[in-house]
Amino acid sequence: MNILEIINKYEDIKLKTLKSKMIVTFYSEDKIYKILEIQKQKDNFKVAIFPNKIKKIIKSEELEDLILSIKNQKIQTNINLENIKKYYKTGQKVRLIKMYDYIAPIQPLTTGIIEYIDDVGTLHILWKDGRRLGIIVGVDEFEIICPICNSKMLFKEYDYFCTKCSKKYLEFLDYEEQQKDILNKT
Ligand SMILES: [Zn+2]
Repeated sequence: MNILEIINKYEDIKLKTLKSKMIVTFYSEDKIYKILEIQKQKDNFKVAIFPNKIKKIIKSEELEDLILSIKNQKIQTNINLENIKKYYKTGQKVRLIKMYDYIAPIQPLTTGIIEYIDDVGTLHILWKDGRRLGIIVGVDEFEIICPICNSKMLFKEYDYFCTKCSKKYLEFLDYEEQQKDILNKT
């Protein structure tokens, strides 16, 4: 399936083709929540994601995945752009499912700690491999995991709870300690 066929399938994604660029606009209830600017670059695509203002190079075959990922994370994205700091906090532990970055992606399943959060939906992460690279909420796929047992956590009402050990998110866990812990286990 090519990109055009995918986009035409959904009413909440619109495509505009300019000279050398494709502009994909994602809508939620008639409001734009993400724009993806795509440019062909040899065998890859150079993409720019707004409002995050982040540029990435992805493999051609990843474009479909990226578009569907942004589409599927719509609800989460809306919540976060409006009120991101309610859902994500410094010191929370994350596990990467997929990062859209061809040049130097973090490997899937790598864990990390949120160091800080900016207002356009980027979580700045210190990864277990010692690198620092941001996750774009609503683009990259990841989950919040339990600091105790590493299982997936779900957000309910005001806090995350662990799907395995039922612990609530422990905000009192010391961030510095978590950083050390993560780096020691590399
Ligand atoms: Zn747990």
